[in-house]
Amino acid sequence: MLKPIFSKLSEQFKESIINYDFYMKDYSSMRVGGRPVALIKIDNFYDLLLTLEYFNQERKELSPLIIGKSTNLIFSDNIRNYVVIILGENFNKIIQKDNQLLCSAATPLQQVVRKSAELGLSGLEWAIGIPGAISGAIVNNCGSKENDISELISEITVIDYAGKKRKLQAADLKPRYRNTIIKETKKYIIIEALLNFEKKDRIEILETLNKNFYEKQNNQPLNECSAGCIFKNPSGYSAGKLIDDCGLKGYSIGGAKISEKHANFIVNYNNAQFKDIMNLIDYAREQVLKKFNIQLELEVEIIGGI
Ligand SMILES: Cc1cc2nc3c(=O)[nH]c(=O)nc-3n(C[C@H](O)[C@H](O)[C@H](O)COP(=O)(O)OP(=O)(O)OC[C@H]3O[C@@H](n4cnc5c(N)ncnc54)[C@H](O)[C@@H]3O)c2cc1C
Repeated sequence: MLKPIFSKLSEQFKESIINYDFYMKDYSSMRVGGRPVALIKIDNFYDLLLTLEYFNQERKELSPLIIGKSTNLIFSDNIRNYVVIILGENFNKIIQKDNQLLCSAATPLQQVVRKSAELGLSGLEWAIGIPGAISGAIVNNCGSKENDISELISEITVIDYAGKKRKLQAADLKPRYRNTIIKETKKYIIIEALLNFEKKDRIEILETLNKNFYEKQNNQPLNECSAGCIFKNPSGYSAGKLIDDCGLKGYSIGGAKISEKHANFIVNYNNAQFKDIMNLIDYAREQVLKKFNIQLELEVEIIGGI
């Protein structure tokens, strides 16, 4: 039997595991994506440092990519030079400190939304229904029409790819519309985040959550396979409305379709291939450019080659 290629690394791990037979379509919310060199599930800080050092020094030809829950990523079939890193259960923790919550990186955003509501802490009511981990939410500066998560950040703890730990304040992230310095540079790994909340009546928070969830459920295809909004809203416009005004709701290529609920969502409704999704993205872009002379920019990240 062949020796696993990263056996030198895995022999030193305390808890983490390396999977060599893993397809990103089985993890990613868009349900497409090929097989990376390996998927490493890291379960403690020591193993994370070992992994970064190993790829920094011994396997420079590979690209380690840390992800959250992959709800805003579209993986291609060709990702054979990627090593995907996810943080496991030991990075899923919430600790209350008065009006603040210290959240480990892999904690699902919805767990933070629920926990804050239970504790009578207001701030994340707009985030009900947004999938993914707190790390991905911060990297993307995820948000709604009126709010985004950077407004809540007190500080985050990161390490860089050389293994150096540091604290960053919200301003250091240079947060803007669905973007931060972490997304742009890919130089840091988020370990945990300290978020600020305001004390409020629990019942009032729960009522707002219910109202917001009802609205989100009516307007977005929450129960279908997608990667969230495909395009950023161009200044002064809604990308969804522009695509809808081109008559594209329900338009499909292969197994991928422009959602009937929200035209800025592409759903994988019937075993779509990566190329179906990319062709649909290109088609929607061309139609909007032709009709409105507006160039749509991607909000989702495409990982890997065509
Ligand atoms: C049905 C649906 C509805 C959605 N609604 C919204 C919405 O209303 N608003 C909105 O803003 N988004 C929305 N999204 C998009 C998406 O859910 C969010 O952007 C989410 O915050 C991404 O989190 P994630 O953990 O899945 O990140 P991923 O998709 O896994 O990764 C996103 C980015 O973060 C990086 N990353 C993740 N973890 C780390 C880490 N620990 N350290 C460093 N980098 C890291 C990745 O490399 C990548 O660059 C929606 C998606 C879906 C499928």
